[in-house]
Order: sequence, then structure tokens, then C-alpha cells
Amino acid sequence: MSANEENLMNMSDLTSLCKRRGFIFQSSEIYGGLGSCWDYGPLGIELKNNLKETWWKAMTYREDVEGVDAAILMHPLVWKASGHIDNFSDPLVDCKQCKSRFRADQIDLSKPCPDCGAEGSFTEPREFNLMFSTQMGAVTTDSSTVYLRPETAQGIFVNFHNVQSTMRKKLPFGIAQIGKAFRNEITPGNFIFRTREFEQMEMQYFVRPGEQKDFYEKWREIRYQWHLDNGLRKEKLRFHPHGEGELAHYADAALDIEYEFPIGWGEMEGIHSRTDFDLKQHQEYSKKNQAYVDQTRNNEKYIPYVIETSVGCDRCLLAILCDAYRVENPGDKENQRVVLKIKPSLAPIKVGVLPLMKKPELESVAKKIFDGLNKKYKCEYDLSGSIGKRYRRQDEIGTPYCVTIDYDSLDDKAVTIRDRDTMTQERVSIDQVEKYFSDRLN
Ligand code: ATP
Repeated sequence: MSANEENLMNMSDLTSLCKRRGFIFQSSEIYGGLGSCWDYGPLGIELKNNLKETWWKAMTYREDVEGVDAAILMHPLVWKASGHIDNFSDPLVDCKQCKSRFRADQIDLSKPCPDCGAEGSFTEPREFNLMFSTQMGAVTTDSSTVYLRPETAQGIFVNFHNVQSTMRKKLPFGIAQIGKAFRNEITPGNFIFRTREFEQMEMQYFVRPGEQKDFYEKWREIRYQWHLDNGLRKEKLRFHPHGEGELAHYADAALDIEYEFPIGWGEMEGIHSRTDFDLKQHQEYSKKNQAYVDQTRNNEKYIPYVIETSVGCDRCLLAILCDAYRVENPGDKENQRVVLKIKPSLAPIKVGVLPLMKKPELESVAKKIFDGLNKKYKCEYDLSGSIGKRYRRQDEIGTPYCVTIDYDSLDDKAVTIRDRDTMTQERVSIDQVEKYFSDRLN
């Protein structure tokens, strides 16, 4: 960050930019909204797709990882085997006065209600299962209850043998997936940090028992580096290893990669060494053998151990937006500029094409440039307002480059290209424009 720059200070500035500029809208807004559900608008979905593509390429364009896309609805026994039906709950308390709900582990029950200030008004904590259930088929009986998956991981575990055998994989190898997950969170909020419907990008890496520690360390570094490569600043990232009390009963090691959001440090990704718990459970409940036959070791049979990397797509996108949001010359009315310094490969719009004025001779040149570039990169054609206003608008949505076509362009067959971060402008010949961007954006 440079000296005259300020970071995002509070989430409401970002929420309002996201709404104003078409990144993220409240779900069902015209009906008053639906709690903690959000819709991605035109710019939001570009950013999200870019992020998912970056993850997908990093995680599956390698010899040892394959991808899947499993169904959201799964056999109910999956969730019995995984432990979600019995254990996927948070302790819930209600305030008897104002009826607000809280997670008992997140507030001090000996203090007054944080919402209404009533003293000693909490109910006894009770376990609240976070899974959404629904009915499958036309007849509503208990046997047709299915769940919206609360994580994508189980779709990978139940396909371990399908992927291993069809793709002829040898250990160690991984299976990756991006998909929606649903949790009936007790206290959702902080914009898209904690929602009831979200997307996860998960990978389960299957290894020989005894080798899990090395792979846990390896994946921890690979995943940390991925966040740095997305442009997140090092000082805003840290590891939070799970201590004795935090570790899930089946895990032999776990940590979170945390980001410092304006609301404080929060988990963005979990790296878990899950032992052979999941495949063993599925073997027991499905009665299907989940062992791997290791041909490199005299056909020794064993249930693989698993290293999991699990990152929330929406939460990661939130971190990227928070990190990129800068206010330059804060408080200086003339020179204040809000700019999203987002990595060009993630930016929703790569190039803004701006004819200086609404004149047919300028527009015909501008349209030609736009049509050529827009085949390769998502571009925006903008005619409305002064050129200064249009630059500011592109800065606010993180567009790395703007091309301006002016009257000189008609004579010198060149345009001005402006860089978002440095605001420097270069004159580039029109026949070199495509090369200019392929050098910088590919
Ligand atoms: P938390 O402690 O924040 O509830 P968790 O430990 O339950 O998270 P995991 O089950 O490990 O989370 O899920 C992996 C990732 O999925 C998290 O690191 C987070 O990025 C994302 N995630 C989990 N729950 C939500 C949610 N309700 N809304 C948005 N993202 C979520």
C-alpha cells in the first residue's frame, strides 16, 4: 500500500459498492430480502467465475488430481455415516424477552442479552442441527427425507472408488470439486462472510497411512501460496493451527488459513488431516469395501488417509474484495479515488473502451476496437458522463485498463491506454492494441 492510501474500514462501504456497481444484491430484494442469502450480479459472477477457474486450474490441472461434480442431494445414509445427522449442530440459546437467537458458544451467558439488554433471560442451550432437510418424491414420509448437503466433501468420498478405478489412479492422488453447500446457520451475517447458501472449493487427497503428515505440510504451503498469488497481502494472512480442544475427534492435525477482514481475523480455508475416518464410515454404512489395493506393495490392502483442503468461494471472494478496496487521498474531495486494486486475471472487466465523445466518427473506431477485444476479454463499452467520471467508475469496479479514443485517433491511428493503479497513460497505435493486451492479460 502506498502512503496516501487507506484500506477498507468497514464492511458497509463494500456492501454498498457491491450493490451500486452490480457485484452482489440482496436475494429477493423486491420482497424485502431473504436473510443472509445473496445474488451475484453481472460483475460479481464474472469475478466469481474467474476465482473458480483459478482454483480449478491450480487444483486439477495436475497429474495427481481429478475433478468431479456430485449431486447436491445424496442418499440420507451418507449423512448418518459422516456424522452430520448426529453431530452437525451448534448450541443455540434464545432470549426470552426479544426472541433473538445466539450461538451459546459465541456470547457470555452471564451477561445481559446483547440485543435488548434483558438480564438472565436466556433459555437453556440446546443443540440445533445445521442441515436443511427436504422431502424427496411425492409422498411425504420420514423415509423420503433428504438433506441439502452441508459440505461438498461427501460427494467426493462416496466416489473414491469410481474415480480411482475409471481414471486408473495410484496413491497419492486427489479429487476436487466446486459446488454449493447449505447450512442453517444460527447467526449468519457480515455480508457474504457467513451465509446459509454458499459455495465451497474442496479437495480430498488420498494417501498411504503414515504419509499424511508430509502431505498435510505440503498442501498447507500450496494453499497459502495460492492466496498470495491471488494478490492477498501477506500481512493479512495467517495460519491458525487447531489446538487439542478444537481438533475434530477424527483428525490428527488441522489448521485454518485466516484473513484479517474489517470485522477481524476469520477463517477462509481449512486444511484437515482426516485420517481414514470418512472412508471407514462409508465402508461400514454402505457395506462396500473401500480399501485400496496397493500394487507397488505386494497388493497390500488398506483404507487411505485423507488430507482435505476446503475453501469457501464466497468468503475467499470477500477477502479479495476487502484486500483490493483502497481509498486514495482520503478526505481530499478533489483527489479522493476509490479503486479496487484487484489482480487483472480476477478482475470482472479487463478493459473499458471509452470514446471521448458521442460522435459517430469516434464511435465507429471505438466499436471496432471493442468488438476485437471483447472476443478475448470481458470488456465494457462506456459512453456516458465525462471521461474523468468514466475512469473513476472503472477504477471502482477494478478494471485494469481503459482505452480512450479521441479526435487525434482519427489522424494518428492511435489510442490512449490508461493503467488503473498508476493512472499513467500511454499512446498506443491501434494495430498494436491487441498485442498490448495479450502481453499483459494472458
Ligand atoms: P466456521 O467456523 O466459520 O463456521 P467451518 O469451520 O464450519 O467454518 P468448514 O466446515 O471447514 O468451515 O468449511 C470450509 C470453508 O467453507 C470455510 O473455511 C469457509 O470459507 C466456508 N464456509 C463455511 N461455512 C460458511 C458459511 N456459512 N458461509 C460462507 N462460507 C462458509
